Amino acid sequence: MEIKNYYKASTLEDAYNKLNEHSSNIIAGGGAWLKMSTADHETMVDLSGLSLNRIQEKEKFIEIGSLVTLRDFEVNSSIKALGKGYISEAAGSVMGVGFRNIASIGGSIIGKFPFSDIITPLLTLTIKLHFYPEGEMTLEEYIKSKGKFNSILTKIVIEKENGKGYFKKVGNTVLDFSILNIAIYHGIHGFRIAIGSRPGVGVLAHEAMDYLNQLKKANESDIDQAVDLVLTHIRFGSNEAASESYRRELAKVYVKRGLMEVIS
Ligand SMILES: Cc1cc2nc3c(=O)[nH]c(=O)nc-3n(C[C@H](O)[C@H](O)[C@H](O)COP(=O)(O)OP(=O)(O)OC[C@H]3O[C@@H](n4cnc5c(N)ncnc54)[C@H](O)[C@@H]3O)c2cc1C
Repeated sequence: MEIKNYYKASTLEDAYNKLNEHSSNIIAGGGAWLKMSTADHETMVDLSGLSLNRIQEKEKFIEIGSLVTLRDFEVNSSIKALGKGYISEAAGSVMGVGFRNIASIGGSIIGKFPFSDIITPLLTLTIKLHFYPEGEMTLEEYIKSKGKFNSILTKIVIEKENGKGYFKKVGNTVLDFSILNIAIYHGIHGFRIAIGSRPGVGVLAHEAMDYLNQLKKANESDIDQAVDLVLTHIRFGSNEAASESYRRELAKVYVKRGLMEVIS
């Protein structure tokens, strides 16, 4: 990768204008992913002067600047409190601490990485992404959006709610990409189930969620029914890391285990 110019933005407007000056200009998050890319860029736009590296807990929300590192995100007490720690656990499953001190939460979302251990658990929360200049959209809307996104992710806003979460990453080794990852949350808005690295990017299992959310109280046979709905409606596939049938077996076991855990 070759970057011809480096530009430190003084405002969001300045960053946005510079980004859109040339089709190959790029925003830098932590740079961990960009470093591996072979593409050349005219200018790399640095957001580090814009105070986007803070986590602020408000009465009803937690606001996370897009440049917050995965490590700061993982160890933050407000994040640790979400769903009894499953979001922190998921962030902590990405590579080692040294790596997590570099990679940013913003870069981890923008990339829509199919293997992401960040997107899958975040999908199970009520969460808004704030972009400059467009404004806000849900994480699910962003994941489903198509085409090149030439705007700047400024912050991620998570609604605080009491509940219990579950996260499971299955990989060949602890430092490997996920073969499958599963996140489940049970809170005041009901059940939310997300599955990632299918090998496609994380998706919500709407049919299973709708089924569980219309029940007064879910028992084990309801959970078996929800697992069937996950296996019927979520698309799994094969790649060099795992076959479709193996992924389906993993989902069958871990979705049930996760659901049993969040209702206990
Ligand atoms: C070797 C390696 C192993 C990994 N393993 C895992 C893993 O096991 N699990 C997992 O979940 N993830 C994994 N990742 C992904 C990693 O966690 C980060 O998601 C990734 O590095 C991107 O974050 P970054 O801050 O480095 O982004 P960068 O590399 O800086 O940027 C990535 C992309 O996002 C854009 N971007 C960044 N910030 C913004 C912003 N604020 N607004 C608009 N665009 C922006 C950049 O222009 C670029 O296109 C791995 C990455 C690497 C390099």
